[in-house]
Amino acid sequence: MITFSEVTKRYPDGTVAVDELSLEIPAGKITVFVGPSGCGKTTTLRMINRMVEPSSGTIRLDGENISASDPPTLRRRIGYVIQHGGLFPHRTVVDNVATVPYLLGWDRRKARRRAMELLDLVGLPASFAKRYPYQLSGGQQQRVGVARALAADPPVMLMDEPFSAVDPVVRKSLQEELVRLQAELHKTIVFVTHDIDEAVRLGDQVCVLKVGGRIGQYDTPANLLAA
Ligand code: ADP
Ligand code: ADP
Repeated sequence: MITFSEVTKRYPDGTVAVDELSLEIPAGKITVFVGPSGCGKTTTLRMINRMVEPSSGTIRLDGENISASDPPTLRRRIGYVIQHGGLFPHRTVVDNVATVPYLLGWDRRKARRRAMELLDLVGLPASFAKRYPYQLSGGQQQRVGVARALAADPPVMLMDEPFSAVDPVVRKSLQEELVRLQAELHKTIVFVTHDIDEAVRLGDQVCVLKVGGRIGQYDTPANLLAA
């Protein structure tokens, strides 16, 4: 579980991106932050892996204050997926995914075998392994991005508008696969989107943020739609 207690982020220029945010993000579920551009979604997400430090307040991961953690160690427990997958352009698909196992000291054959399993898990045929990212469609790049984030087997996955750059049909199939993957892997997923339909489709919990970085609503999709 991830707990935010009165977390505020004020950027050096005075912009308050997140204002006294308090909420609990349950383990093993998909929690979606949704709201218009500038409401503090990305800032909220990046505070969870310490890419952005809060100005005040506390964030805990399984009870542990993350500000006391070593960022590289923390990030091994927290996968991160962004738009376009954020792939290394000069590495093949399989090497993109095997990078984390290599860094963790796995031998090359074992790391590659693990990468191939993960590519299969996200629905990419083995024939794509030797391609470079530019030889893939947007949807396929996103799949590789998800496989790469899964490579360290992190309990937590942060996803920042990962599917927004692909066309609606592909987006729908990626959303369905994420739900399927989640049912299998029980990750704690924190997902950011500006698309309310996507939020409702994916979220076990949906947090609606308002510009100024305050919570509008935080509930299950069923309750949000009934309200
Ligand atoms: P969202 O992801 O919902 O679009 P962000 O978290 O990116 O929102 O931004 C929230 C607010 O903080 C916006 O007003 C944005 O302009 C501002 N902001 C984001 N990053 C910075 C920064 N590095 N310096 C100053 N202001 C920033
Ligand atoms: P997806 O549904 O996964 O996003 P697309 O509909 O965009 O896939 O692409 C259709 C097919 O064209 C895919 O099988 C993909 O492998 C292939 N393709 C797209 N771009 C390229 C490329 N630059 N080089 C080789 N094949 C490509």
